[in-house]
Order: sequence, then structure tokens, then C-alpha cells
Amino acid sequence: MQIIPHKGTHMIGGTCVELRAEGQGLLLDMGMPLVNPNGTEFDENTVKRPIEKLMADDILPRVPGLYDKSECNLAGIVLTHAHRDHFGLSQFVKPDIPIFAGQTTADLIGAIRLFFPDQLDPARLTIIKAHWQPVTVGPFTIKSHPVDHSAPGAMAVEVEAAGKKVFFTGDLRAHGYKYRTFENLLKNPPKNVDAMLMEGSSLGRGPTEYAYPDESSVKEALINEIKDDPNLVLLFCSSQNVDRVVSACRAAQATGRELVMDYYTAYILYLLKNTSRNIPQFFWDEVRLLSWPWHVHALEENGHKGFVITLNNKGGTVKPEEIFNNPDKFLVLAKPNRTLPTLTKGLGADQITCMWSMWSGYLKDPEKNFAAFLRTKNIPDGQIKHIHTSGHATIKDLGRLVKAVNPGLLIPIHTFHPDDYDQFIDPARVKVLNDGDVWEI
Ligand SMILES: [Zn+2]
Repeated sequence: MQIIPHKGTHMIGGTCVELRAEGQGLLLDMGMPLVNPNGTEFDENTVKRPIEKLMADDILPRVPGLYDKSECNLAGIVLTHAHRDHFGLSQFVKPDIPIFAGQTTADLIGAIRLFFPDQLDPARLTIIKAHWQPVTVGPFTIKSHPVDHSAPGAMAVEVEAAGKKVFFTGDLRAHGYKYRTFENLLKNPPKNVDAMLMEGSSLGRGPTEYAYPDESSVKEALINEIKDDPNLVLLFCSSQNVDRVVSACRAAQATGRELVMDYYTAYILYLLKNTSRNIPQFFWDEVRLLSWPWHVHALEENGHKGFVITLNNKGGTVKPEEIFNNPDKFLVLAKPNRTLPTLTKGLGADQITCMWSMWSGYLKDPEKNFAAFLRTKNIPDGQIKHIHTSGHATIKDLGRLVKAVNPGLLIPIHTFHPDDYDQFIDPARVKVLNDGDVWEI
């Protein structure tokens, strides 16, 4: 078997690795880059360019026949989870190449598509119905393993072909609410792995990224911070980071506040309703709904008129004036966007508590609406509380994973620090590849 990492050997994001056996290929993830080769932020509008341009600019993985009518020897593509840096270039793949993903990943890609219509149509996906069950894709036998990550439904993938076995971790961690999946993976690791492609996002990140070691500590911190706070609390987090929404809901319950979410968040959580009964739903008493016209429009335009009517009729909608007139009654799941002036009308900096519950990197270069909000309200950077735990495994947990799997070869992927993998295993068993290399195992 050959391993060909097309993209992502020296960066976080843009992951795309090809395995080749018996004349056929299998792609593991097909992500949009997050950074350019020179380290600057990747402009996501770039992917709206024509395929020819994206090929010429070396943004699309160079797999013959993947985008046009010429012959393609790819048996399929597996997407590990619904983060755009793992699936965000898969929309360019021609229709006769099968793309595999879990049901939750398909649902979330559908939700992302409400606002990014250029993304992959989830109807195009072949659903992997059960973890640990072999699925045959050409000469490859793939098995998914559920993992804990900030994207619900994330999985790692075990691939066998030509008498060899590769294990691809995707993105994973051991400290979210699904941490048991990680411990289970350590207890029942794939056996006789010839090569493990392991993410290493946390390498090179400072200790402040892990100030809150796990999701439970985030929840506790939220409760402690909010309980005596008379201010309106704006918690900035991703709608798809379901663990964080669960933590926020528990903090709201513990502090006697109502949890305010927009229709988009309510929609995502409803999609995931069968995956856990802990996920807050729009019909819960403590949940209040904010209706922004662009969310209503996107939902209605994409066939979810009935859901909008259900939300409208729920009786739990809340108007911005109720929020800014009763700041201590609510915990708002906020977005750093144009909604902020409306939500905080008349409130001064001393009446607003901003909690940043995402990667700190996003805060360094804030979206212009958010920067304008902070400026207008005179909220200094230092007043923003950063309460977050990473979506990625700590170095210690990565070490535990390597020890459990004990691969013949450890190959860095999804990391800015591939040279730091020596700490996990005998350095002779670490193989740092470059994008485009072909490595035979
Ligand atoms: Zn991810």
C-alpha cells in the first residue's frame, strides 16, 4: 500500500491523504485549508473560483480524473467529520466517485450548507451506518471508530488493503463529554497497524489553550462566573460545538437564567436530538429563541418552512428588547456578528459580560463586526473572559494513543509541528512526509 498525503502534512487544516493499493485509491478527508502556504489566513471565498483556477493554484489535491471526465482510479473518499478543513473541498468531486461519511456528519454538512450553499450536497453521501463494521470500497476495507471531538459524529478510520493496515485518527481528543470513546479506543485499539496518521493540532500551542482541561471544567467555570454576575452574559461559541452548548445550558440551569439561542442553533441541535438526550432542544422550558430574518430565510429556502413555523409557534421566542431590559435573566449563545448592537442596545460596558468560548486565535483577529462592537461599547480586550477547552487531544493524550496503537510507523498530519512527533515513539518509527510524497508501506 502507498500513502500519499496530498495536503496537510505541515499545517492544521486542508487535510487530504490518499491510500493506494491494487491500482486504486482511497481519499481520507478532503479539507479546505485554513492557512496559505505562507502562513496567512486562507480566504474561504477562494473556493468559489472555477475548478481550473483552483487546480492551477494548487489548492485542489492533484488526483487525476477526480474533477473531470477523464478516467479516475479512486474507489472512494471518506470524510471523518463535519469541519470544513476536513470536507470543504469535496464538493468539487465528480458525481460517480462515492463519498462516505457518518449520518451526523451528513446532517451537519447539510446545516452548514444553509449558509454556504457551495458546499457538498449531503444527499451525495453514502452513509456509514455502524462503527467498527467493515465496509468494502474497491480493494479497501474500512472501519470507522467513533471519537470525541468538537464536531459531533467525528470518527477515526481504519483501512486495510493489500495485507497492510493504516489508522487515520481524523481530529480527536480525550476531554469532551464523549471522552469514553477515546478511552474505549485505547482499550480496544486497531491491531497490527502498519502506519498511523495522527493529528497533532495541540503541538506548539501554549498552556493557556489548556487552562480548562476538559469540558466539565468549562461548565464549572461558566457556572462560577455567571452565578453572581448581574450583567447580560454573551457566550461566544460555535453552534456546532454541541458539548459547549450543553455546558452553557447546564450553566444557565444552575444560575437560574434562560438560555437564548438563534433558530440556526436550534435547528442544528434538533438534527442531533437522537444522539443524546442532554442536547438542549427548542421545546425545553429554559430555552428561548431569537429569530433573525436571515436564519428564517435560509431555513425556509432550504425546505424547512415547517420547522420555522414550529419554532414560531413554540411560544419561547424572545425579542432583543426583553433581553437588554432584563440583562441578568439570560445567557445568550452569541455570535461575533452584526446582531450584537441590537442585543445590547442601551447597555454599557459594565453591563455586558463577554465570554469567548472558542479558540483564542479567532479573537486575535476578530471579525470586523465584533471589533466594531467592542470599540463602540468601550469593552477592552482584557475584559473578555476566555473560557474554552480545545477540540484536540493534549500532547499527553496523543502519547497515550500512540502507546495503545503501537503503530509500525507514525506519520504526522494536521499539525504545524511534525518534527515534534519524536517524543511519542522511537524516532526511527516516525516518518515525516511532505505534501505530495509517495510512501510505500
Ligand atoms: Zn475538526
